[in-house]
Amino acid sequence: MSASVSQYVLKVCGRCDLACDHCYVFEHADRSWRHKPKVIAPETVAEAARRISEHAERHLVARVSVVLHGGEPLLLGRERLTGLLSTLRSVIDPVTRLALTVHTNGVLLDQELCDLFNAHGVRVGVSLDGDRVANDRHRRYADGRSSYEQVLRALALLRKDEYRHLYAGILCTVDVANDPVAVYEAVLAQAPPRVDLLLPHATWDHPPARNSAGHVPYAAWLGRIHDRWVADNRPVPIRLFDSLREAWEGHGSGSEAAGLDPVDLLVLDTDGAWEQADSLKTAYDGAPATGLEVFSHSVDEAAAHPGLAARRAGLGGLCRECRACSLVRACGGGLYAHRYRSGNGFANPSVYCDDLKVLIPQVISAPRRAAPGAGAQPKHPPRATGAGRARARRHAIDVEDLDLFAAGPGDGAAMTKIADVMNSANRALVVEVARRLGETTGALGRTAADGWRLLSSLDAEHPQAVRDILTYPYVQAWATRCLGRSGTADALDRAHLGGIAAAAALRAGIETEVAVPVRDGAISLPAVGAFVVAPGTGPVARVRIAGSGVSCDRSTGPWQAVRRVATTGLTVTVDDVDPFRDCQAWVPAGRLPAAAWESWQSALPAAVARLAAELPDYASALGTGLRSVVPILPEAGGQRQSGSTREAFGAVAVTFSDDPGALAELLLHELQHLKLAVLADQFDLVDRADGRLFSVPWRRDHRPVYGLLHGTYAHLALAELWRARARSTPDRPTVDRYRMYRSWVGDAIDLMLSAGCLLPTGERFAEGMLDTVRGWADDG
Ligand code: SF4
Ligand code: SF4
Repeated sequence: MSASVSQYVLKVCGRCDLACDHCYVFEHADRSWRHKPKVIAPETVAEAARRISEHAERHLVARVSVVLHGGEPLLLGRERLTGLLSTLRSVIDPVTRLALTVHTNGVLLDQELCDLFNAHGVRVGVSLDGDRVANDRHRRYADGRSSYEQVLRALALLRKDEYRHLYAGILCTVDVANDPVAVYEAVLAQAPPRVDLLLPHATWDHPPARNSAGHVPYAAWLGRIHDRWVADNRPVPIRLFDSLREAWEGHGSGSEAAGLDPVDLLVLDTDGAWEQADSLKTAYDGAPATGLEVFSHSVDEAAAHPGLAARRAGLGGLCRECRACSLVRACGGGLYAHRYRSGNGFANPSVYCDDLKVLIPQVISAPRRAAPGAGAQPKHPPRATGAGRARARRHAIDVEDLDLFAAGPGDGAAMTKIADVMNSANRALVVEVARRLGETTGALGRTAADGWRLLSSLDAEHPQAVRDILTYPYVQAWATRCLGRSGTADALDRAHLGGIAAAAALRAGIETEVAVPVRDGAISLPAVGAFVVAPGTGPVARVRIAGSGVSCDRSTGPWQAVRRVATTGLTVTVDDVDPFRDCQAWVPAGRLPAAAWESWQSALPAAVARLAAELPDYASALGTGLRSVVPILPEAGGQRQSGSTREAFGAVAVTFSDDPGALAELLLHELQHLKLAVLADQFDLVDRADGRLFSVPWRRDHRPVYGLLHGTYAHLALAELWRARARSTPDRPTVDRYRMYRSWVGDAIDLMLSAGCLLPTGERFAEGMLDTVRGWADDG
């Protein structure tokens, strides 16, 4: 399947009412504007809308952004803009979520146009280069008049209560001849919701002006704004800085100018030509051209153009110097156009490379935005140096949280961060499954595609309902399976998107009908329930959802709701129907008979109450992290058993016990594994290349270092539990049990520290556990 495109720049007018001398459209190398229509024709707009919606439908693109651009798009006039927006909305809206934006110089923006944009849901970005001096330096009419007052009038309009929601932000082109602080203050005075600071387009053939003192004037200029912005506690997002930091921390940069994200953007010019990024106009005459146009070529064909494909090559698409650069994750080689040099094209670092090498370290090492009311600096500086500290900057869970978890339970805020990290990861996994759906033919293929479409539209109207379902542990297990870790995913697995969508629709309380795949004679809606269906039903059955009710015309029995236990501090499902609950080496029990369910209903609250009495901090962490309990069958010999897996965060599998203390122990043990699995994903704790196996007292088999660390952490909590029990009931068996666990943990930590199998952050974690054990020394 070809790459999908979600961002389009629609050039609706090829002329402008200003004559800015820094304009890359009219003043740089590309001269194609001279031969193109002044405005886009209605039939070109209609064909573009058809192509975009066709592509979105084929690739299940959940959201499409269309930016109206020029020249100056408002020169199109109210009447033609009305027709254009109506066409885009009527053709694209039924297929996907359409985000419309217009980028304007602002001089023609008036109340009528704002009303039009309000009616069609169009956000407005305005160009302003700073204070009057800065703006007048370039942004003038052809006769030399200033445009400053008109732009300020447009921005005042956008700040009015009735239009404020349309205000997308300010685009500000850098000129190092201006005073950076004056520019910053002038832009912020317009109260924009966000700011884009744009480096002026330049290439190695036509380098940027360096008319101020110093070797790296752009780094110095932007650095001064950055200093002030950080000192002000980042009052507004500034995209260049945010993008560099996001990319450095391993997230999408959201910008062509930073990071290594594949670019999924196409430009459509006024003549219907598909083009590459507009910034290429600065490289050479004809640089953005693809030779393809909307009436003859689909979006798929345009996206396959080698120039666009090169922008999806990530690190491999960069020159050798950039590939070897320590800052490449943030920088990404700079904006593609800025790498151009005649002779070797784009196989160069950015012409701003020297500046970026100074600016990026400043941006990525700056303190984060402080919470309102808090100081800008962290209260407790990290203890460790090296890898631990470097990695910590990349994650929502920071190294101070790691210290809290090493000590034992972690606090509520840190536990919430763990849950948030996993919820975001789950959602990303599901999106990735949808992205890879491939051919959507056949009943199962259509079920997957229709399910994803329904989920996407529900996400716009009922985001909490979608979130509740996507973050369910066995949705994570399903997505992980689909993405091939086990290599067993098939069309039936992927069609589970239908069941996920049906569950979200039921949670949202809407009326709809959804196809759901039949697996092992049943259909399943995760976190919600299942129906057994009639033999011979075929690959899918349809469920009807009306408000809070659900029915299936092929069912042969009653709705099997996923049952819940709600007790003080904890609400969990007891899931005995989800087909993906069988995601580790345990044997899940089938649907619990009424008597067994009653037993669980009383055993779980009793176990949680017991844990809350003995270890309240751990009980609180359990309340934040646990979403589902899967009853499993006991091992041969009737031994109690429990399990958890990093592929189903928030779920534990346990055999039934009517002993609250024993059940509390199993839950506590698995909670430790769940927490550590996430921490080990976030931080480099152990050397996974270390192939040694270690003898441990809690198992007969020898364990690799990862298993050694996990077992140690689980038994740290058990030692704490038995310590609490020994204090309240100091009889011999209880005290001996506590001492046994304590010595197991102490010995295992010593072993890990002496064996050299931990990385620096892992050593820090082990030392944190050791501090806790040492704190028990007085117990005897
Ligand atoms: S307003 Fe924009 S399109 Fe018009 S001349 Fe200035 S930079 Fe170019
Ligand atoms: S442009 Fe310069 S700073 Fe950026 S990745 Fe390449 S070498 Fe590194």
